[in-house]
Amino acid sequence: MASKNLVQGEKGLLCVKCSHLNPGNLTACEYCKTPLFIICKKCEAKVQRALSQCQKCGHRLHKSFLSKLERKMFARSRKITLGQFGLLIILALFMYQAIKVISDKL
Ligand SMILES: [Zn+2]
Ligand SMILES: [Zn+2]
Repeated sequence: MASKNLVQGEKGLLCVKCSHLNPGNLTACEYCKTPLFIICKKCEAKVQRALSQCQKCGHRLHKSFLSKLERKMFARSRKITLGQFGLLIILALFMYQAIKVISDKL
């Protein structure tokens, strides 16, 4: 589809969420109300959300949703590794007990 360089102009603003093309004078998508601009954390310039970098200072705007998720998962998995080990043993013991009880009844 259109390049990432699609900027404000006669074509309007592309909504990052629903891909609706909005008239250039809007600040939020007229279709899904998603803000069309974000403020650059570095230079505080108003930048289109459709762009991944600040047009003014080149600062990377939104760390992609994916990398955020990745980091979240990574942090969680790191925390789990030790706890998970103990949990697994407890679970295994529990299962063993449960199986024992069941097989005793049979
Ligand atoms: Zn939208
Ligand atoms: Zn900036």
